[in-house]
Amino acid sequence: MPQNYKEERQHMVSSQIERRGVNDPGVVKAMKSVPRHLFVPYEFRHLAYQDSPLPIGHNQTISQPYIVAYMTEHLHLNKSDKVLEIGTGSGYQAAVLSLLVDSVFTIEIIPELTDMARLALAECGYHNVYCKSGDGYHGWMEHAPYDAIIVTAAPPKVPQPLIEQLAIGGRLIIPVGPQLGTQYLKLFIKKENRLVQKSLLPVRFVPFTREIE
Ligand code: SAH
Repeated sequence: MPQNYKEERQHMVSSQIERRGVNDPGVVKAMKSVPRHLFVPYEFRHLAYQDSPLPIGHNQTISQPYIVAYMTEHLHLNKSDKVLEIGTGSGYQAAVLSLLVDSVFTIEIIPELTDMARLALAECGYHNVYCKSGDGYHGWMEHAPYDAIIVTAAPPKVPQPLIEQLAIGGRLIIPVGPQLGTQYLKLFIKKENRLVQKSLLPVRFVPFTREIE
């Protein structure tokens, strides 16, 4: 029988996530369920439940499990929500989101990663995730507005199209800051005629890159 890492996964959730204060029952359940080892390169499977990011090829990383859980919790998701993710990477964050909402739209700028994520998501049965390759700066207009938007690469400032594609009452979580230097994880909530902003944590994400236009 292939190793399913169930015990490692339960231990990851209790020691890295619940112990650090992420206790939303839906988020905890999703983190206990998604097989993270199937979203990392084969040679790193045995490290998949460690307390760290891991390389996924093309100079990119799958985020640390705690950060995935923390960002997911701060989106305050409802079952009927439509979510946009910028930075599909491995597809792991999208898989976690897919268990909590109606549909997840996710964009990745590196086409090879989109292909790999699509395969992993399909093999694991996460059928409500829709992947596309492209520059996420522009969002995904066709399915807007979104109840929540999560960005998993750090731009120097918030892309305006993402704010525009947020529904009233919608939440946007995004690491913002320079490539070298301090980035902050920020949460924006779109109200009728203003944007409420909260700075959450200093973080280190891979850079948000742009397609040459
Ligand atoms: N959420 C991912 C984390 C991947 S790291 C996971 O669960 O594995 C962030 C990803 O953002 C990288 O794969 C990088 O290629 C991608 N990225 C960077 N700039 C982007 C952009 N402008 N549009 C879409 N994806 C981008």
